[in-house]
Amino acid sequence: MKPETPVQYLKGIGPKRAARLSKLGINTVEDLLFHLPSRYIDRSNPVPIASAQIGQEATFVVKVMGSTFRRSRRGPLVQILVADESAQMYVVWFNRPDLRGKFKPGEKLLVSGQVTFYDQMQMVNPFFERLDANPDFFERPIFPVYPLTEGLAAWEVRRAANRVLDELDELPETIPLEIMQRHELPGIMQALQYVHRPREMAEIEKGLARLRYEELFYFEALIAMRRRSLEEGVEAEPLAPEGKLTKGFLKALPFELTRDQLKVIAEIGADICDKNPMHRLLQGDVGSGKTVVALCAMLAAADAGRQAAMMAPTEILAEQHYQGWKKTLEAIGARPLLLTGSLKNKEKEERREMIARGKADMVFGTHALIEENVEFRDLALVVVDEQHRFGVMQRAALASKSEVRPHVLVMSATPIPRTLTLSYYGDLDVSVIKQKPKGRAERTTELAYEGRKEGVYRWLEERLKEGDRAYVVCPLIEESEKLELSSAKETFDELVERLGDQRVTLVHGRMKPQERQLAMSRFRKGEVEVLVSTTVIEVGVDVPQATIMIIMHPERFGLAQLHQLRGRIGRGQRPSRCVLLMPRGLSPEASQRLTFFANTEDGFALAEEDLRIRGPGQIMGRRQHGLPDLRIADLLRDRDLLMAAQKDAFKILKEDPELKKHPRVSATIRRRHAQSLELLGVA
Ligand code: ADP
Ligand code: MG
Repeated sequence: MKPETPVQYLKGIGPKRAARLSKLGINTVEDLLFHLPSRYIDRSNPVPIASAQIGQEATFVVKVMGSTFRRSRRGPLVQILVADESAQMYVVWFNRPDLRGKFKPGEKLLVSGQVTFYDQMQMVNPFFERLDANPDFFERPIFPVYPLTEGLAAWEVRRAANRVLDELDELPETIPLEIMQRHELPGIMQALQYVHRPREMAEIEKGLARLRYEELFYFEALIAMRRRSLEEGVEAEPLAPEGKLTKGFLKALPFELTRDQLKVIAEIGADICDKNPMHRLLQGDVGSGKTVVALCAMLAAADAGRQAAMMAPTEILAEQHYQGWKKTLEAIGARPLLLTGSLKNKEKEERREMIARGKADMVFGTHALIEENVEFRDLALVVVDEQHRFGVMQRAALASKSEVRPHVLVMSATPIPRTLTLSYYGDLDVSVIKQKPKGRAERTTELAYEGRKEGVYRWLEERLKEGDRAYVVCPLIEESEKLELSSAKETFDELVERLGDQRVTLVHGRMKPQERQLAMSRFRKGEVEVLVSTTVIEVGVDVPQATIMIIMHPERFGLAQLHQLRGRIGRGQRPSRCVLLMPRGLSPEASQRLTFFANTEDGFALAEEDLRIRGPGQIMGRRQHGLPDLRIADLLRDRDLLMAAQKDAFKILKEDPELKKHPRVSATIRRRHAQSLELLGVA
């Protein structure tokens, strides 16, 4: 039997069971071995029946006294009476007609499960083992419980795993010997024995540590390879970070740059003077002023006579970048241009032409920029705004628009917890803006019950009179009666009734782009004072005069998302206030989460909490990042292992990029991660 043998060819697994296993992602014998138990039952200490307590998990060694079968309301029911020296009890199976008549008086059983009470003490659908047929049973007293799928029984998976462990010829070792010794990790076969057939609980941890390390090692190896492939071969254009345009721009800015902004501009400047392409992640909390930093980088390309592009995840945002800076940029002699999907075909055509001929040197846009038919004359620098909204593939696609390798700056306003930065973006250098621009007034966040909406609206009206502007954010567009969510439309109507239709506007994702642009720009200019919206304004929108945000049903949003929303206000010199209107009767967890949010301004603290609550998968999004899912390791729990694995993997790939001296690693990557290699473009 070979690792790549399909499970279907295992004895006892026909096409039917194979199909069910496939639902669990198990196709080969090797997959089966990496399908790990989700928990274990320690059967090494059976207790007397009489000493067990109702509600407890317990394991008993018993003798069968008698058995009955009947049809109950819950389906066929097999009931046996069992006893040990101390007492008697019933053991019951629902929906296991196959067990009918299968227990003989006098037979010795081990049963393990929760003790319940129904007329008398009993156990329902416990795990059981026939001890007469398994004289060596107590040699393996720890019972693995596997994650299952419909139509697949625990024993089937267990039996199959056992068979593979017995019959597999070899499973090639995947980790270099030196690493195994240094971290005291068992070999691959040993580790699998430990987790599938532990003789004592301590073995499980040993085996798991090895398998987790292995998974993280390959995860990081792929990231290291991605980094290398980005840097390989082709060179970048050295740019001119202190050229005429940049100087003019800095002079034209209506504000002083913060120390952090200057620091990051210098870091980027140092990167892009070089022929080594830059790969930098710029992290900075919402409102910390990342855009000007990016513009400086783009201007350095323009100063060198090349082109730069900035890709934003939404049209609203791309338009804002462009509209917001167009005048300043043109005044200093740069040639900005906007390219989005919603432009008329003819306009698009014209603008593509300008890009191709080099008539524009700073191109702003959405993923329209990465469409096939967009050709740059001389793209030397790429900025990806709100990076977490894009996949690696899109990032790579834009970078491939250039003959030479462009410098790449990715920016994220969602503070990414350090752990994730290291693991997902281990291939990027990181710059951080911590400081907020000076002169920003205070921002407060407050929780209120929906019942107080009337009062909040009245307060809103007062503030509008004083010249404030407000966002009102709602989770859904159409009213869903079932969920009783206040929809954006309904809220809009309410506010129109109060304030008149000249003062309120509505923005949502299903609007035509022109309508949306119009609404946004009216709000920006102050022609309307209240912008009711769905979460389309979540990222990047910048209207410094807006000072009020009311969020309906805040419990429907994640912490990071709430923080993004709140980041829309507190950008100007007037104090601002965010009010979360929550329904009554929220779960304690939900209230706790919202309270934490209201009391925490630090985006990184919120991100860490979000990570703790929702796990990394949710945060990084299900988007195509090209990296394999982690099935065994957990980035949070296994932080230390992750750090070690990252160090080891990066070191190996640095010293031996072709993996010539590491045939195990090279073979494993090709065998297990062919798909990732392709997605990451490092195949
Ligand atoms: P983000 O980092 O969230 O993308 P922006 O780049 O949109 O933030 O900046 C937020 C606002 O702060 C913008 O209006 C921007 O012009 C302004 N800004 C940026 N840097 C400074 C600064 N040093 N002083 C004052 N205002 C600044
Ligand atoms: Mg931004």
